[in-house]
Amino acid sequence: KHCVKLLRAMNNEQSPLNIYFIPFLASGHLIPLCNIATLFASRGHRVTVITTPSYVQILQKSNPSLLLHVVDFPAQEAGFPGGVQLMSAANDDESARKFYHANMLLRVPISRFLEQHPPDCVIADYIHSWVHEVASNLRIARLAFNGFSLFTVAAMESVRSNPALVPEAGPFLIPDFPHRITLCSTPPKGVTGFVQRLLETEMKSDGLIVNSFVELDGEEYIPYYEKGKAHKAWHLGPAFLAAKVGEERGEKSVVSEEECVSWLNSKQAKSVVYVSFGSVCRFPDKQLFEMACGLEEAAHNFIWVVPEKKGKEDESEEEKAKWLPKGFEERNAEKGLIIRGWAPQLVILAHNAVGAFLTHCGWNSTLEAVTAGVPMLTWPVLGDQFYNERLVTEVRGVAVEVGATEWRETGYGEREKLVTRDCIEKAVRRLMDGGDEAEEIRRRAKELSDKAKEALGDGGSSHNNLTALIAHLTHLRDTR
Ligand code: UDP
Repeated sequence: KHCVKLLRAMNNEQSPLNIYFIPFLASGHLIPLCNIATLFASRGHRVTVITTPSYVQILQKSNPSLLLHVVDFPAQEAGFPGGVQLMSAANDDESARKFYHANMLLRVPISRFLEQHPPDCVIADYIHSWVHEVASNLRIARLAFNGFSLFTVAAMESVRSNPALVPEAGPFLIPDFPHRITLCSTPPKGVTGFVQRLLETEMKSDGLIVNSFVELDGEEYIPYYEKGKAHKAWHLGPAFLAAKVGEERGEKSVVSEEECVSWLNSKQAKSVVYVSFGSVCRFPDKQLFEMACGLEEAAHNFIWVVPEKKGKEDESEEEKAKWLPKGFEERNAEKGLIIRGWAPQLVILAHNAVGAFLTHCGWNSTLEAVTAGVPMLTWPVLGDQFYNERLVTEVRGVAVEVGATEWRETGYGEREKLVTRDCIEKAVRRLMDGGDEAEEIRRRAKELSDKAKEALGDGGSSHNNLTALIAHLTHLRDTR
């Protein structure tokens, strides 16, 4: 072994790393982790994604450089509807619990594979926290990934380490934080405990991979995190720039890329509001109705993604009237496009007709909007979204709030508070009607977008981080 090491050092040669990626089966986790895997593969390393059958075809198209190891999805054992292998198929607490359970059952076949074919490094979603124990026993280097921005991880840690902050209380200032940030309320209890336990395990890994770039949330938060936690963070994003842009990522789109582009081509530059709430949030009819009214009253063009109504094209007039004002589609035939299901989001955001993105602030959507230079209208619902909102509004000034304050534990179910049509209309107009404030936001969005693209190019911050991380992993492999 020592001779091989010496020879390699003398020849200044690095043999490729053998790396396994284990994503969690929710689009918001799966898409970015597979894109990060593609970044490693682009440097000539042997990269295998361990996944279940339903995602294989999509992954082969969007990330063709990856090797795949397929394990069966234990839907039946977990009591989850057969055939469905993505989190978006869960639409209530009970099915979400079963889905999580099915994911945990993957431990057995994946551990067996790790034992029989140990890699140099394993990079697993933090929800698969069991990977820590398996990798430690096998002395395999392990990097963690949670899909959050580092700003959010730092904020969560700051909240956790302050016992005076009780869950679901009123507005609060994030304690001991680089920026002075006030949130509308403390996070709900159930999720906080669950996430905190996962974050604790994550801290025991050999480092954290972040799908973001230093100029967005690294300059202040890498030193803050690394000093406070004695744990290294590596910004490698925006990772989606490494994958193929197309209709198929995560799920199959219900409209074609051409259809969207030709609709957008018929609109003026920066005239369309793109509305989407990611892969998990689902609104009750009353809230959708209010959204429709807000969009109509704001009187700008829009693409509105409504996965709640997927496959319900033949709904009765009575059913439709519950979420869509009477005559809405006819009145907005020119102005609006409704997509009932999965949309080709990257294609839409990249089109210059799009002038704003009404978003739930899921981290991927946020990063995609930042990279495309599209200012955001923020409407967080759950999880990390309230933190992300603060980063893009208060800290970076590339978004305006709609005014959502209900921090929910899950993405479905009835709401206590409605976001009213007036709030929606006002926010849309604030960005889309022009004026000095909107211009300034657009200027900052463009500046940040340029930095995002530079980060992944030769000599950019994320490009350099990946080089350094590969050197670090090679060193770990050669010295273990
Ligand atoms: N996405 C998409 N089409 C859709 C809905 C979502 O392509 O119709 C993608 C989106 O581009 C992003 C991911 O799915 O990459 C959603 O992740 P995000 O973190 O924004 O939200 P989550 O779904 O985790 O709430």
